[in-house]
Amino acid sequence: MGGVSADHDPEGHLRPAELSERDLHDDGRPGEACGVFAVHGPGLAVAHLCYLGIFALQHRGQESAGIATSDGRHLTVVKDMGLVSSVFDPRMLAALDGQMGIGHTRYSTTGSSAWKNSQPVFRDVAHTQFALAHNGNLTNTSELAEEAGMLDGMATSDTDVMAELLSLHLRNNPRCVDHELEGALTAVLPQLRGAFSLVLTDAHRIYGVRDPNGFRPLCLGHLDGGWVLASETPALDIVGATFERELEPGEMVVIDQHGVTSSFPFAAERVDPRLCVFEFVYFARPDSQLYGRNVHAARVDMGEQLAEQAPVDADLVMGVPESGIPAAEGFARRSGIPFGHGLIKNRYIGRTFIAPTQELRAMAVRMKLNPLRESITGRRLIVVDDSIVRGTTTRAMVQMLREAGAKEVHMRVSSPPYRWPCFYGMDTGSRDELLAARMEPDEIAEFLAVDSLAYLELDRMLVATGAPDSGFCTACLDGVYPVEIPVTLNKSVLEGAVR
Ligand code: SF4
Repeated sequence: MGGVSADHDPEGHLRPAELSERDLHDDGRPGEACGVFAVHGPGLAVAHLCYLGIFALQHRGQESAGIATSDGRHLTVVKDMGLVSSVFDPRMLAALDGQMGIGHTRYSTTGSSAWKNSQPVFRDVAHTQFALAHNGNLTNTSELAEEAGMLDGMATSDTDVMAELLSLHLRNNPRCVDHELEGALTAVLPQLRGAFSLVLTDAHRIYGVRDPNGFRPLCLGHLDGGWVLASETPALDIVGATFERELEPGEMVVIDQHGVTSSFPFAAERVDPRLCVFEFVYFARPDSQLYGRNVHAARVDMGEQLAEQAPVDADLVMGVPESGIPAAEGFARRSGIPFGHGLIKNRYIGRTFIAPTQELRAMAVRMKLNPLRESITGRRLIVVDDSIVRGTTTRAMVQMLREAGAKEVHMRVSSPPYRWPCFYGMDTGSRDELLAARMEPDEIAEFLAVDSLAYLELDRMLVATGAPDSGFCTACLDGVYPVEIPVTLNKSVLEGAVR
């Protein structure tokens, strides 16, 4: 498909004035999406496996965590705000155990960061209990909420709206008792637009769904005595599962004691693989496999491509910790310039406060990064980062390097300029917060006070993924949105307020 909506300018770009407010991580990077995990394993320590699975996916969301398990008759759900390790303890996991379960870590995209929006979402309707966990962001939430009769403040997240639509179907079609959730999914899924990798459980089965564009990853693994679904492959590794395959875009799998069955509930013309390219650049763990390729290796290759495209004479190549380091290694390898560490990251810092002023933001950067003066003083540096979104962190970091005695600072970015907001599950901020939406690269170089600046070209970046023809979303880089975007969309669409 690859279409764009009528809300674009003649080049297919969204009109800036019509884009909505969103907030960014305080380090200026986009907020991650969410992590989902599911296990079907009668006789296994299901709740503990779910705990380990979402622990491995903690990087995808740190706002809330939850697990829902089934003992074959009833579901139990525990969820709360905070990190996985702070939400669950051994006593709680023992009480949760069952034959199958799902887990979730959340970063808010539609719906604010609040307990009421934490997941899994639970429903008990027409003899069916089910729980649902979602990674992604629906683009037709308002329309769906209206259909579900939820615009009067009843629902506050797109996941809640999905659960309500499934409940409505179950209430209105109470006859198919055995496979009723599967029937409800088959009826409701085609109405959803946007990004959704889902896991669900009812009393007897586990379900996994990937939207027809496959914006967010979802993979299937085999466990001795069970099956596992996870956003990323490291969550399979941590529970000792063997990777089977990635779910296809548009695929639904149902897992019970007989094994895995697969179906495709979406119209064939909607199926158009568009994995988020930023999963490769920044979001996914380096030890993840996507499109059959290791993410760390792809990031190293992005650095090699960058060195070939934008060489510069210098004494040291360094990466911005942690995610800029693989590309810096690649840059050093291809250029022959030594690789070294010039910035040390405080490993024990989580999310910090959103600093209200530029000065406080600079201090927040110093809380996270400290220069290694021995590597920097008197040297010409090539500093590699994976992306520049808002630019304030990068600017403060460059100033820090200069104060530590750097002779020259050449900035190299292993992705193209980030010019357009994401509506498919990454919290990138509104267009006027995106540095490259307001400035050309030479103006950005001046703003950052660097001696030179270069971004990796899109074609080279796709080659570095190792799967350039597999189908990617690149909307935040080129403004071509694969799924239509309503102009009013923002994360508080159901709450009547713009954050
Ligand atoms: S717009 Fe960018 S961040 Fe969002 S899904 Fe597409 S590539 Fe990923």
